[in-house]
Amino acid sequence: MHMSTNLTVHEPTNALRLVTQAYMRLLLIAFALMPAHFIAYLYFQQDPGLKFENHLFHEFAIAVATLEGLFVTYVTWRCYQSSGEPLLRWLTLGFLGFALIYSPHGAFTGMAHRNIWLFLLYGPASRLAMSILLFVGLLSYNQPSDEVEKRSDPRAWLIWIGLFLTMDLAVALIAYSPYAGHPAVRLSMEGGALVFSALNVAAMLMRRIHSPLMLIFGISVAWFALSSLAFILAAPWNHMWWLAHAIFAGGFFLLSYGVVRAFRTTQSFSTIYSQEEMTARLAESMADTQRALQQLQLSNQRLERLAATDPLTGVGNRRHFIEHIGDEIARAKRSGAPLSLLSIDLDHFKDINDSRGHSVGDEVLRAFVRRCLEAIRPYDSVARVGGEEFMVLLPGATLDTACAVAERLRSTIEGAAFDVGAQPSIGITISVGVSEFGRDGDTLDGFLNVADQRLYRAKYEGRNRVIVA
Ligand code: GH3
Ligand code: MG
Ligand code: MG
Repeated sequence: MHMSTNLTVHEPTNALRLVTQAYMRLLLIAFALMPAHFIAYLYFQQDPGLKFENHLFHEFAIAVATLEGLFVTYVTWRCYQSSGEPLLRWLTLGFLGFALIYSPHGAFTGMAHRNIWLFLLYGPASRLAMSILLFVGLLSYNQPSDEVEKRSDPRAWLIWIGLFLTMDLAVALIAYSPYAGHPAVRLSMEGGALVFSALNVAAMLMRRIHSPLMLIFGISVAWFALSSLAFILAAPWNHMWWLAHAIFAGGFFLLSYGVVRAFRTTQSFSTIYSQEEMTARLAESMADTQRALQQLQLSNQRLERLAATDPLTGVGNRRHFIEHIGDEIARAKRSGAPLSLLSIDLDHFKDINDSRGHSVGDEVLRAFVRRCLEAIRPYDSVARVGGEEFMVLLPGATLDTACAVAERLRSTIEGAAFDVGAQPSIGITISVGVSEFGRDGDTLDGFLNVADQRLYRAKYEGRNRVIVA
């Protein structure tokens, strides 16, 4: 059987491999740095005094971001429950922390004119918390999975939620403190977020992590870093400020894409394979399958042969012969060529067993088959259909021809000395009934019966003879 599984990995030339790899890396870097172009454009081309102050829109955007954050938190948490990957635990906390600390930034939009800091500081605080948690997560990449009990223990999660709410409170306290307006406050938070995101990228590069989902992770944190940069360069409500929101959202969406990919596949970040790896693995397992199939076919063939042959003499057995004769009848019907059959029984075989023993009888049966095979043409087939009963099928032979073959075989056997061991050699004779398909019946059973009847007549008439009609 042929399997046309053309999953061969075509090896391109070395030079082209290197060039495409370099190109791929450049594209990834360019994509990771894309927000920098937008930032530069606004920074150099746009009046920073231009503002778009729309509270409703801002509230709506932050509400959507919070809902999205909670959704992604849940999906990440589900992945973590399944794989126990520490990175996913930290990612869940990062998303959760972001959602919980960021939401007041939207809720307090209306406070923008009463206490600008109460409105503003939740943004950098949430980004700082998230970037730290993602960085810790990256450091835990490839570490062994958490125990199942640890994964589902609610206490740790409740403590973290408490911590995030405490940070909300702390931000409010800072916002109402006399230091709120000090530029160092906002700058240290936003700058901290930038530093941790940049550290994330650096750590990835240094550890040479490049599994597909981790590439997404890397690009996302690069965008987070650039969004913090944009926030530092921005003033509330101006275009740079909105752009910073958009860059952060882009990074967030991308990272959530990675989480959803993980959820829909292995539920882990580290065991997602690259397409190259997958193709190689697939090709390997296809080859294994094919090898196994071939082995199976071989052993099937062996079994089929075993089931079709007589173990003593090695020729076909009755079951096989009946199948074969059916095929030959169909062929004879199609071509109109004659088809004849010899039904053979060894004469007084029981006497050999009785006088010389069963194993000598076996030897005689084997020797008889050898003689028989010598006497016929290659496409004639011999089968052992009973203890000392045989049949020979003669495609293309008329009754006369078959009769001649039978007579030749009979006289050969009669004249042969069967030497078995050191004992005196044994002489045997056979009785044969001959029939021709069509002439002596045009069904399988009729064809066989006529040959058998003639064999019985040969016995009845004194054995060691061929009966044709
Ligand atoms: P007939 O001329 O009437 O055919 O006489 P026979 O003795 O050949 O016929 P019968 O049917 O009475 O005996 C057949 C004998 O063949 C009986 C059985 O022990 C023997 N036989 C059948 N199968 C085997 C075998 O595998 N090995 C040996 N050694 N003998 C076998
Ligand atoms: Mg016999
Ligand atoms: Mg018999």
